[in-house]
Amino acid sequence: MINDHESVINVGSDEEYDEVEDDTTIINSSDPLSRFTLDKSLAAKMYIEQYYINVQQSVKERGQRRKDLETKLENMKLSSKEQNDLRKELDKKESDYMRIKRLRLKRSDFELIKIIGRGAFGEVSLVRHKESNDLYAMKRLKKSEMLKKEQVAHVRAERDVLASANNDWVVKLYYSFQDDSYLYLIMEYLPGGDMMSLLIKYDIFTEDQARFYIAETLLAIESVHNLGYIHRDIKPDNLLLDKEGHVKLCDLGLCTGFHRLHSSEFYQMLVGDAMTIKMKLIESTPLTQTERIQSWKKARRALAYSAVGTPDYTAPEVFLQVGYGKEVDWWSLGVILYEMVVGHPPFLSDNTTETCLKILNCKETLHIPNDMGLSREVIDLIKRLVCEKDRLKTADEIKLHPFFKNINWDTIRKQKAPFIPELKSPTDTSNFDEYEALDDAESQKNKTPNKRHTSIIGKNVVKDKDLAFIGFTYKGFDAVNKSPSHQRRPVDGIFNNNNNQ
Ligand code: ADP
Ligand code: MG
Repeated sequence: MINDHESVINVGSDEEYDEVEDDTTIINSSDPLSRFTLDKSLAAKMYIEQYYINVQQSVKERGQRRKDLETKLENMKLSSKEQNDLRKELDKKESDYMRIKRLRLKRSDFELIKIIGRGAFGEVSLVRHKESNDLYAMKRLKKSEMLKKEQVAHVRAERDVLASANNDWVVKLYYSFQDDSYLYLIMEYLPGGDMMSLLIKYDIFTEDQARFYIAETLLAIESVHNLGYIHRDIKPDNLLLDKEGHVKLCDLGLCTGFHRLHSSEFYQMLVGDAMTIKMKLIESTPLTQTERIQSWKKARRALAYSAVGTPDYTAPEVFLQVGYGKEVDWWSLGVILYEMVVGHPPFLSDNTTETCLKILNCKETLHIPNDMGLSREVIDLIKRLVCEKDRLKTADEIKLHPFFKNINWDTIRKQKAPFIPELKSPTDTSNFDEYEALDDAESQKNKTPNKRHTSIIGKNVVKDKDLAFIGFTYKGFDAVNKSPSHQRRPVDGIFNNNNNQ
């Protein structure tokens, strides 16, 4: 039933709310009229804007795919029949893509196989698309938590960066959609686990092993920088490994320049009140370095997904909030290199406050052990990354460092990785920790429609909180290659850049 104050706005077929109830909801009549009008027009404005952004983007991307194909054909020495076949093939894929774009995906289209990761705002699971049998990693984030902790911009950033990155170095995003309670990112599943697990398993890497992972991570960070973003959250749990053991970046939620709320509050407190904190530290009994490393190793995974997070990989200028650039990612790379060859991160402390203070005072607190037989080159590279003033600033500068003397930057992803994941089947999740399923009762409770403050978009009802999530839904072109009707052939690779699929 439609209330007097509402009208229906139809904007194309690209529905944003895949699971919002189709029948309209009665608006609470005690609310002021102006409120409805405002909500409704705001929702309509945002929806229309997003719709046209999406249309423009689609046209641009389609043109680019055609251009890419023509460039590839020029270099391929094929007969004109073969060339025409490939053009027809692309046309077929474009029409399959249009069909996929009209698909309205929902949570129940996927069967949950196993939870493989848990973060502060949701969890990541291995899932199977029921119709096609394809495997994906599904990141599910709770809308109410995102709003409460002001994380909406982060997930939006993650969806935007993942959607725009089409390279081997960033985890591929196939779809994103939402229902009343959750946002969903459907990504490629990387079965090798993350770098944190590898470090927990092996404790320490040889310099050759570290060189490989640091070189690949450098290229991954460079690819994000080339898209115009800064990652800002480079750490081992955000470096994933594909089935051949090569690195891909995930967790791009901080890419567009927002800080996690808890972090900024914490850091303001830290800078404003550093003296009090120092006093508290002096009063507490410190652990020995061995005890500290032991307890950190035990608590690592839990710390990674706690609400507080870990500041171990964060550059000093981020805490000081005085403005910073891409170099923050190079600092983190240096910290990871230290951790790989020494066995623990450089500013490890009894608590996060002390870690922050050590980072701010890195000139005095960075100690590289001299009894581990580390090469001059690795020591120098750590010092040139984990420092405030003379930090290497660009990927090209870092690539020229003597530590990388024998690296072939063009072929590294095709080389053999130091550790190749052992996988017994495509659904083998042994490279991930065990996570208990959480009670889903709350999510069911949240599904009860909220009758207050609603506006109508298309034939769907949009709630106040949903305004924040307009434009989240996404279907990527590479989803075409996952489609069940699509028979894979050797030439398929030429339509996307991802050789690992
Ligand atoms: P958070 O923002 O909560 O840190 P992440 O995106 O980093 O979320 O994911 C949490 C963990 O889930 C990662 O550290 C990794 O172990 C696992 N994970 C995330 N994405 C994937 C993926 N596409 N394939 C396999 N594992 C993944
Ligand atoms: Mg993460």
